[in-house]
Amino acid sequence: MSREGIRELQSKRLQETVRRVYENVPFYQKAFQEIGLEPGDIKSVDDLSKLPFTVKQDLRDNYPFDLFAVPKSELVRVHASSGTTGKPIVVGYTQNDINNWADLMARCFAMAGATKDDTVQIAYGYGLFTGGLGCHYGAERLGATVVPISGGNTKRQLMLMQDFGTTVLACTPSYALYLAEEAVHMGIDLPASQLRIGVFGAEPWSDNMRKELENKMGIDAYNIYGLSEVIGPGVSMECQCKNGMHINEDYFIAEVVDPETLEPLPYGQKGELVFTSLLKEAFPVIRYRTRDISVLIEEKCDCGRTFVRMERVAGRTDDMLIIRGVNVFPSQIESVLLAIGETEPHYQLVVDRKGAMDDLEIWVEVSDKMFSDEIRRLEELERKLRNEIQSVLGISAKIKLVEPRTIPRSEGKAKRIVDKREL
Ligand code: ADP
Ligand code: ZN
Repeated sequence: MSREGIRELQSKRLQETVRRVYENVPFYQKAFQEIGLEPGDIKSVDDLSKLPFTVKQDLRDNYPFDLFAVPKSELVRVHASSGTTGKPIVVGYTQNDINNWADLMARCFAMAGATKDDTVQIAYGYGLFTGGLGCHYGAERLGATVVPISGGNTKRQLMLMQDFGTTVLACTPSYALYLAEEAVHMGIDLPASQLRIGVFGAEPWSDNMRKELENKMGIDAYNIYGLSEVIGPGVSMECQCKNGMHINEDYFIAEVVDPETLEPLPYGQKGELVFTSLLKEAFPVIRYRTRDISVLIEEKCDCGRTFVRMERVAGRTDDMLIIRGVNVFPSQIESVLLAIGETEPHYQLVVDRKGAMDDLEIWVEVSDKMFSDEIRRLEELERKLRNEIQSVLGISAKIKLVEPRTIPRSEGKAKRIVDKREL
């Protein structure tokens, strides 16, 4: 579709969405009235910035169902996202929403090159988390053979992968890494297996981690992005150019705003991602602030798709560490560690506060071989890592080399940060 065609479609769907929330969700009606906005004021995507933002706290305040735009009898499913503090975020779907989401996810798998001939092993968690079921319905819609194994049970996971001839693996990148590592221990040669595609997401990861996973598993690894509030996985997906994720703009409008001033930023500038849903019935969202930091890329992609792309999400603002005034995302540290390549790709960041000073320790595993080496070599490696972190990120950190297999492995989203500060 031409850019112009997309805009027209978005404008039409935006008007419908704005009307739907105004008529059916008291929260939005009130928010619009407070700023003197009527649904008729929104005529095209150009009017988007007239609309108020929605934030996570609004979802909490309206727990569980008060932001839904349909009666409960129209809901066919609910999902909820973890929410480490307090009540979870609850989202709902009508039958049309589920159908649309399945189409969207089928499109995502197809973008990675999957077809009905593939066997898709879904090792994202099933349940309230949107990852498992979101991928499940999409892979089925594509006509692929779905193995709904969910996360965990790593040895069995690898056995079935061999026996069933799995060709596509969908899971978090950190779990993929764990699977790759465990395969080696079990004497399974993944690169020689039928596995050919990885659809990895739900947490930040770096391009260096992509290379690592591609080599270890003998696959092409693609990034998929989404969040429960907007629909779940499938908001955006990489094409085979592996150069940013195409946003499914027929379903969502993406903006990037300055997280401080909330002013919309032009394409190419880094800021907070904001999404407006265009087709959702049960749980439409208007200018939802994701807290995810990214950049929108306008330039046409070599694949020929016209949807705007977004860069890899470095992390979310609530995962961002501020170490002595410098903003640091775990994925930046991951990238440095993997670029040096002399440690294992397992790491954890331990933050503490000594007096008024934040203290960052980076725990990173060394290989069995390295661990039995001379102390002098370990000290050298430590110094090298410390210098590289300092020069790339501009912060000083203490490096702690730990024994192989001591950092906990994740079966879902990895926990990279241990924050011991009492803030
Ligand atoms: P929660 O993690 O709060 O339970 P979700 O499961 O909805 O909720 O997670 C959505 C979040 O996961 C996104 O807002 C984003 O921070 C992160 N995320 C999802 N996909 C990716 C990705 N491909 N890269 C980086 N971060 C991602
Ligand atoms: Zn593309």
